[in-house]
Amino acid sequence: SFASLLLRPRLPAVVSVVAGNGLLWVALALHWVAYRRFRDPRASRKLPLAIAGGFLGVFSVLWWADAGYVTRTVFTSAVVGGFTAAGAWEIARDGGLREERSRLIVLGLGVLTSACMIARVAILLRAERVDERLLTPSLERSVGFFPAVLYAFAVGLGFLMMHRERSDARARALALVDPLTGCVNRRALEDRVRGELAHAARARSPVALIVVDLDRFKSINDTYGHAAGDAVIRHLGEVLRRGARASDTVARYGGEEFCVLMRDADADGAAALAERLRSALSSEQVAAGGVSLRVTASFGVAAIDPARPEAWESVFRRADAALYAAKQGGRDRVSRG
Ligand code: GH3
Ligand code: MG
Ligand code: MG
Repeated sequence: SFASLLLRPRLPAVVSVVAGNGLLWVALALHWVAYRRFRDPRASRKLPLAIAGGFLGVFSVLWWADAGYVTRTVFTSAVVGGFTAAGAWEIARDGGLREERSRLIVLGLGVLTSACMIARVAILLRAERVDERLLTPSLERSVGFFPAVLYAFAVGLGFLMMHRERSDARARALALVDPLTGCVNRRALEDRVRGELAHAARARSPVALIVVDLDRFKSINDTYGHAAGDAVIRHLGEVLRRGARASDTVARYGGEEFCVLMRDADADGAAALAERLRSALSSEQVAAGGVSLRVTASFGVAAIDPARPEAWESVFRRADAALYAAKQGGRDRVSRG
């Protein structure tokens, strides 16, 4: 009957040993899933859970076949060590640990735990006599239980820190990007300017600025609507980013005004780039709200000569004055200040 089944002396041990280990392995498999999803949100949970289920099946057979303590413990240690090693590998495999340092906590715990499990297996296999009573202190048990308890507590905290660190970095990055064009915004430009000026002073290299303003943009908005205007702005952002070097910063400074901040470029280099950008823009059609448009922009260029240090505001004023001169001169042109 059911009652006599419950009263069988082996049953509590089945629950604590087989079900207990099973729950632990499912938990470790789900940790592994969490690390996989941290790397790739679409990663499947099937493989880790299937492995945990398979191990539990093998362990149940070992239990009912009355395999000894050493065999069972070697098996459970190998499973725990395998899962924590798989988790650690998942954390480490795509690099970037320098940027996301809290991943090191989880990685370290995984490596420590799997190393302790290997040590436990070695201790068990070399021991002449093994005390099977669970609560008797022994090196084998300390090596097995200490990292498991530490892992259970600390890995949860470490995982929260990993998430927090990543979501903070995402929020910081979003705060610096213009959503319409994907270019950096004015705030980020001001940060970059500080960095570029410091670099220029250290390397005694020039630094240049191009300011760009779409020509007669108000009439595009008025004629074709704001959505078309936005498409034109987005297109200008693409042209600028396509033409600039990776070390240059392309920023949307205001409505239809952009800046290109150029590292290691003098006024000649900046004027040459501005001319390429101008001609690329004016020669392409823009699909904007069902119509195809040709748009132009005016460019103002200024640079800081390393021999003559100059305040940023003053360079900016010179570039802006050059832009104004380009507008006065008939638009769709580059002017140097
Ligand atoms: P100019 O050749 O002298 O530059 O003529 P303009 O019409 O482009 O004049 P200005 O640069 O002074 O005007 C900018 C206009 O851009 C004002 C506003 O209607 C429009 N604008 C500013 N920001 C946005 C935006 O985010 N989206 C859209 N669609 N239009 C914007
Ligand atoms: Mg403007
Ligand atoms: Mg304009």
